[in-house]
Amino acid sequence: MIISFRCPHCQTELQFDDLSADQSPCPVCHQSIFLHVTTALRQHNMADQCAICQCPQVYVQKDFNRSLGLIIFAGGAIVSVVLYAFNLIWQAFAVLLGFAALDALLFKLLPEVTICYRCHAQYRRVSYNPDNKAFELALAEKYDSLDRHDKYQAQTSPDRLNERTSD
Ligand SMILES: [Zn+2]
Ligand SMILES: [Zn+2]
Repeated sequence: MIISFRCPHCQTELQFDDLSADQSPCPVCHQSIFLHVTTALRQHNMADQCAICQCPQVYVQKDFNRSLGLIIFAGGAIVSVVLYAFNLIWQAFAVLLGFAALDALLFKLLPEVTICYRCHAQYRRVSYNPDNKAFELALAEKYDSLDRHDKYQAQTSPDRLNERTSD
């Protein structure tokens, strides 16, 4: 498995593939990044929650490079228009259909990527987990607002930290 995520401290894009340790220093800012690796993740290579932010839900989507898809589509459209200009009508349609089929085939062959709703960490080369579903806007909004709440709490919590240390 490979996890791509942003360092919670310096926001640098990082990739981890070693899940043996429970924490690892960020190669850029050298602060510790805690990994909440579950049994499912460690033993079965199965993403059941986010190892970075502990968000309990993740979603699955095709690991599709949108710009590549657009380039293929645009290429097909250009060739088709040129053929059309030369009055090669059915060839123009055939090319358009061919490129659409190529796009669809590529999409079918592409691997899937599992993504955390809250911190958007991406998990590649994981085993299939039937509990993980496609993206749902309602869940994304739920974890988005939780995230804002967490940040608000973090900003306003020094008082409580002081209370605990003075005990
Ligand atoms: Zn960092
Ligand atoms: Zn996360």
